[in-house]
Amino acid sequence: MEGAFVMMAQLLWFVIGAAAGSTANAVIDRLPRHESWFRGRSHCDKCGHVLGLLDLIPLLSYLVLGGKCRYCRKKIANRNFGVELLLGLSFMVIGGHLLSLIVWVTVVIAVMDWETRLVSEFLVLVWGILVIADKFLISNYLVDLNSLLGLAVGVGVIGGLWALSRGRAMGFGDVEIAAVMGWWLGWPKIGVALWAAFVAGAIMGVIKLIKRLSRLKSEIAFGPFLILGTWAAYLWGSMIWKWVFRF
Ligand SMILES: [Zn+2]
Repeated sequence: MEGAFVMMAQLLWFVIGAAAGSTANAVIDRLPRHESWFRGRSHCDKCGHVLGLLDLIPLLSYLVLGGKCRYCRKKIANRNFGVELLLGLSFMVIGGHLLSLIVWVTVVIAVMDWETRLVSEFLVLVWGILVIADKFLISNYLVDLNSLLGLAVGVGVIGGLWALSRGRAMGFGDVEIAAVMGWWLGWPKIGVALWAAFVAGAIMGVIKLIKRLSRLKSEIAFGPFLILGTWAAYLWGSMIWKWVFRF
């Protein structure tokens, strides 16, 4: 009986997460174009046809329509499906916790930056407020030494690179992301997160270089890697720290 109840609850959270993913996709599409997030009907990017309810069911519409628009048969970006699946699974695992909102906002920041090289200051601020609330709920402190240390390291490293490269290696949005990361993770997890971000970013840089033999100049946004590093450090921080920095 209890097992069935847990499964029902998980299924419900998966559905809520997938729907939150659908909202995330709308924000990712609309925010960079300064469209309203919530007003105006959703429409196909390619043909402009207004989408009906049947076209907007998270995950299912994409599967039933084979990843194509019902009206013009042009391809719908796989990202739509990926974001809905990722948030569905995340919400299923986390459930009704502040952390679910943090997943949502970091996914939106990362995907938007990846696609448009635009870091939404507003969303980074929302992430920061959620992090402060999360820390307060756990520790009852609004400010603690460990968070301050993490903030100093995050802003020090990324802000330093931003200043030294005059905004070419990093954007100022990356510095803002690093500030929230540092505050949330504290020391030494911020170290793990930055390390993971640089390793992942370097690997992606090499892949891009091989694939296109293009210029070495940073064409890739660094924000997604910072957020990837944040989650790696949040989930496995102490393990990675012991593996990598055990000298
Ligand atoms: Zn269409």
